[in-house]
Amino acid sequence: MTVKKEFGYCPECDSRIRLRTPRLGQRIQCRECGTALEVVELTPLELDWVFEDLSFDDEPRHNRSRSVAHDGYGDFPPAYED
Ligand SMILES: [Zn+2]
Repeated sequence: MTVKKEFGYCPECDSRIRLRTPRLGQRIQCRECGTALEVVELTPLELDWVFEDLSFDDEPRHNRSRSVAHDGYGDFPPAYED
């Protein structure tokens, strides 16, 4: 009876991570760097960062249109001379 040992590599610190029974979507944590990882591929075993179900909060864009504050000083037509 052979115990199949699977190895994956932490994408963060590149350390080898052993999984006894890797399953797709399985979540583990890297011992070395503590990064939360997920099994994304079984053959070959591949680990990737866990993408949490973060609600995509829309980053408020600062739509500040640059208001060009031009003070009208400049070339005014000369006053009429009569
Ligand atoms: Zn790591």
